[in-house]
Amino acid sequence: MTADLHLHTTFSDGTYSPEELAAEANRHGLNALALTDHDTMEGCARMAEACESLGMEFIPATELTAEQEGIELHLLGYYLDASYPRLQNELGKFQSVRQQRIEDITDRLNKLGIPLEVDTVFRLANCHAPGRPHVARALVQEGFCGSLDEAFERFLKKGKPAWAPKYKMSAAEAIDLIHEAGGMAVLAHPGLSRADETIPALIKAGVDGLECFHTKHSTYMTERYLEMAEQHGLLVTGGSDCHGMSKGKPLVGTLKVPYQYVESLRERANQRRNERAARLPAN
Ligand code: AMP
Ligand code: ZN
Ligand code: FE
Ligand code: FE
Repeated sequence: MTADLHLHTTFSDGTYSPEELAAEANRHGLNALALTDHDTMEGCARMAEACESLGMEFIPATELTAEQEGIELHLLGYYLDASYPRLQNELGKFQSVRQQRIEDITDRLNKLGIPLEVDTVFRLANCHAPGRPHVARALVQEGFCGSLDEAFERFLKKGKPAWAPKYKMSAAEAIDLIHEAGGMAVLAHPGLSRADETIPALIKAGVDGLECFHTKHSTYMTERYLEMAEQHGLLVTGGSDCHGMSKGKPLVGTLKVPYQYVESLRERANQRRNERAARLPAN
């Protein structure tokens, strides 16, 4: 039994719908999936239904953008209660920030002489949590760039002329929010974020796990993070971080984590929930 615990759909910057993604994962023989769209859980209901009809287990989740000591970190929240009011409220705020940022980026492009219209990006993104990949796709679609890589290299990467900053929650706030909404907080792809120096502070802030397995982690990185997780009693997760067809071959199916990690994650989430319920005053 295997799982993929890091996936994106058209509800953020992936290109597959939840149904297409579930079907693709099923074709690869995966047994459990988590949907981790950036700053939204809107795809979870459809993904849950698609998984159920294909006989796969589903874990509701999201990937939050946070910051620790000036370093951007992605925090995965698993087994979140999507209906929890403060979570809904905060996700709504993240989405407004993302929409405003698309306007800032297109403003910058316009000032650079690239007449890309903001509505072209919004129409193409067709979601509440748009991101730079949507701007990149619009730049290619409108013939301003030859490829997505060119769009990032010339304009969109941090430090390039159309890059715009984005408000981020502190990592400690994101971890608290995930916990409050009944979820488990896992540091995403630590190998990509220069995150090592932040890990002690994240552990202090209550992070529950490390995403040791990721398509962009080398074997060496994976082993190092597995060791770190063991040493600190942290949960282990992993996933393909598939964004669909955007970068050529879809990544779903290329990384399968053993099902035992799903069981540990679920067990600890249940344990946490029971402890919380016991602390709440009876009425
Ligand atoms: P955003 O959430 O708007 O900051 O965009 C971040 C997303 O852009 C990441 O999740 C990646 O999928 C994608 N991305 C970041 N850097 C690049 C790059 N150099 N080339 C292609 N995609 C990228
Ligand atoms: Zn993404
Ligand atoms: Fe990420
Ligand atoms: Fe991701």
